[in-house]
Amino acid sequence: MILLASNENPLGMPESARRAAAAALEGAGNYPDSNGTALKNALAARLDVPADWLTLGSGSSEILHLAAQVSLKPGEGVVYSQYGFVVYAQATAQAHAHATVVPSLNFGHDLGAMRAAIGDDTKLVFVANPNNPTGTFIDAAPLLAFLQSVPAHVTVLLDEAYTEYLSPAQRYDSIEWVRRLPNLIVARTFSKAFGLAGLRIGYGVSQPALTARMNAHRPRFNVTTPAQAAAVAALGDADFLARTYELNTAGRDQLAAGFKELGLEYVPSSGNFLMVQVGDAQAVHARLLAAGIEVSLLGNYGLPQWLRISIGLPEQNRAVLAALR
Ligand code: PMP
Repeated sequence: MILLASNENPLGMPESARRAAAAALEGAGNYPDSNGTALKNALAARLDVPADWLTLGSGSSEILHLAAQVSLKPGEGVVYSQYGFVVYAQATAQAHAHATVVPSLNFGHDLGAMRAAIGDDTKLVFVANPNNPTGTFIDAAPLLAFLQSVPAHVTVLLDEAYTEYLSPAQRYDSIEWVRRLPNLIVARTFSKAFGLAGLRIGYGVSQPALTARMNAHRPRFNVTTPAQAAAVAALGDADFLARTYELNTAGRDQLAAGFKELGLEYVPSSGNFLMVQVGDAQAVHARLLAAGIEVSLLGNYGLPQWLRISIGLPEQNRAVLAALR
């Protein structure tokens, strides 16, 4: 099977991380370091924040759930955009809160409407940049203006699962924003560009008071020893990250050019995936599966005519374009 359904890294895990995880298995008869000291120190050095600004999660999904748990009481409100990542709804439901889903603008966030939707009972806002599944990107200036406009009693979870795929021109320093905004949590993951989706590890960055609440809710030993060791190695593997970025940029261009040639509408993406309109997406999905290619249906997002295709290796991209043709 060619797996292009879950926005994973087509290079797999970095060799450096594989070796680190294998070595860490030696110690896996003991519990992990629940504080994740080595990884937090590595992240703290990389991001230039103290270690007590960091929360480690079993994937960044757990960071999203923790943000909901620390911010919400039953009956309170959450705001996020239409076409928001599925976990926002799950975390909201698990906290017995209710969601206001703000209609999207051109498949992206309508920040003005989202600000207007924040009411007295709103305690949490999710924003994804880039967004999954649409791939849309919000420029730094309007995003910062939005974050600054959110009342201080409302937590904002800025979901940056795909931030490593941004072009140099798009990149912005959200960690600097965390220094200014006590209600901001930036969530990132090792599942995508770092190639460790199966090890389940991600992190949140927030000021110490909010971080202490996140860690108080965090299940003990939520990140395994091999995952912590692999993340330290992947974080230091600049070559792997550079190769990942270049492969993704070229693959995204390759797929976009192919869609154009086929006359298929697609949404320009800032992530490691593209959303393409194919008509009867269920039928096309089934035909692709029969050809050995798995992509993602978006009916649950209210997009029954669209598929989301993760960027693969050049030959995988060629195969999916050939099957679509
Ligand atoms: N946020 C977004 C927008 C995502 O697309 C994903 C993964 N699909 C995640 C968070 C969570 O990924 P993980 O739990 O593997 O870190």
